[in-house]
Amino acid sequence: MDLFEYQGKGFLGSFGVPVPAGKVATDADEAVAAAEELGFPAAVKAQVRVGGRGKAGGVRVAADAGEARAAAEAILGMDISGHLVERVWVEAAAEIAAEHYVSFTLDRAARAHLGLLSARGGVDIEAVAAEDPGAVARLHIDPVEGLTTDGCRGWIAAAGLSGPGARDLIELLGRLWVAYSEGDAELVEVNPLVVTAAGSLVALDAKVTLDDSAAYRHPDWDRYAATQEGDERERAARARGLQYVGLDGSVGIIANGAGLAMSTLDVVAQVGGRPANFLDIGGGAKAEVMAAALELVNADPEVAAILVNIFGGITRGEEVARGIVEALERVEITSPIVVRLDGTNAAEGRAILAGHESARLRSRPTMVEAARTAVELAAAATGEPAGAPVA
Ligand code: GDP
Ligand code: MG
Repeated sequence: MDLFEYQGKGFLGSFGVPVPAGKVATDADEAVAAAEELGFPAAVKAQVRVGGRGKAGGVRVAADAGEARAAAEAILGMDISGHLVERVWVEAAAEIAAEHYVSFTLDRAARAHLGLLSARGGVDIEAVAAEDPGAVARLHIDPVEGLTTDGCRGWIAAAGLSGPGARDLIELLGRLWVAYSEGDAELVEVNPLVVTAAGSLVALDAKVTLDDSAAYRHPDWDRYAATQEGDERERAARARGLQYVGLDGSVGIIANGAGLAMSTLDVVAQVGGRPANFLDIGGGAKAEVMAAALELVNADPEVAAILVNIFGGITRGEEVARGIVEALERVEITSPIVVRLDGTNAAEGRAILAGHESARLRSRPTMVEAARTAVELAAAATGEPAGAPVA
């Protein structure tokens, strides 16, 4: 989950990283009131989850209320790389003596975290990195050991930032590291990390991506989730406790187990179809879960056929079948359902389904046959020819 700059600053601030005080505004009056409260000069900054705001004119420093109003009016409603600006962040402007760059992220190939530090931060950091890779000091950080003071010193020296301010920098980098590692972020990037005219360090920009898989241990992340656009279907799935990923095809997928669900996507693609989603109802799913999954997939307007692929282990065939029948009775399922049921109590399950076999519900003995039928039904419903099967 990507955070807006103002949320990122709040996140970093909660770990003791120095960030400017500021306020969010959604119209010019609010922006002016915020600037007057914070004092001038004030920086007015577009809140969009994309970089390059400065270059696009989305960051302005206002000397007085008139300039703050003009800045807010110019920035609100702006389109920055396809992102509409609906809010601005107004903060006490910094007097900048130097702009640095720092980030932490995961380097999977190296099986370590990667810190990047440069004395040449600012809006041209990409060009700096491309022209003079030596200007960006890289530090691989062992996930168990974490960022050490010695490691930090060497990193700062490699970036050419040793000197009188180094001790403050070590402290800030330490806090930023804690925000990244203990805060369950996948990325924290501060560009620019400024040295103010008074000599203090401030995170003047913040790009933070949180690890969605860790959301369960951060109930306070709900406030960030509320401002995410996201996928409406994925939100509905989360509310029902279902493991769902929205895709853009026409064949709805329901399977038990993430591995089988992924194989089902592959088989659908193999026979020329396009999956509308990934949905894993998990092991041991009861009738109720199956019914909820069917309702969810059926509610997707792009879905033209639903493929249910179950291999029973702890999941029992008759529970699955009962869930399907229950869903058919409870809601109006508009797409035809094709079921492949195998494994534990498959015979009992198939017997239940056989009693309800119709144009809306068909069983197929194998995964490939079921996928082929679902793809054909989807193609017939959408009027699009099924794609060429993948050899
Ligand atoms: P980005 O372009 O989306 O990365 O937005 P930033 O927040 O990084 O701002 C871009 C540039 O605007 C910074 O590198 C600074 O040079 C400038 N800037 C941002 N905030 C301030 C501020 O408070 N005072 C001054 N003088 N410049 C600022
Ligand atoms: Mg920036």
